[in-house]
Amino acid sequence: MPRVAIALGSNLGDRHANIAAAIAELRILATPAQPFITATLHDTDPQHCPPDSPCFLNTVIDLDYADDDPIGLLDKTQAIELKLGREPNPVRNSPRIIDIDILLFGETVLTHPRLILPHPLIHERPFVLLPLREIRQV
Ligand code: AMP
Repeated sequence: MPRVAIALGSNLGDRHANIAAAIAELRILATPAQPFITATLHDTDPQHCPPDSPCFLNTVIDLDYADDDPIGLLDKTQAIELKLGREPNPVRNSPRIIDIDILLFGETVLTHPRLILPHPLIHERPFVLLPLREIRQV
């Protein structure tokens, strides 16, 4: 049963509500009775975003996932992004209601057209690394 770390970010609409809604959806995917850990919320400046992009609210969660299929989990996190109202935007890093990135999936190392694990930008993104370090030794 892999332990999974997932990064959440929002910089559009009610950011607190968006993060809370994503956490509620991810809680449904988590194995009950196992620790579901949430880092604190971080208010962060946009990085590599279009000019005048709003600030982000970021956090990281850590949960037990019952299935060994990381692509299946990506399908589910992308479905949550759509359910919460994220719309496709061709502009890279444009403001988004919710962004859900899988950081770590057990010990899995994967290079797949849709999914790279561990997430390749963890160490370049303080807004991911700082909350991750609150709840995991990385
Ligand atoms: P974004 O939502 O803008 O962060 O980009 C998501 C895109 O990155 C999707 O096309 C995913 O298939 C791809 N991707 C690659 N690795 C990951 C990962 N570890 N977690 C989430 N999305 C990933």
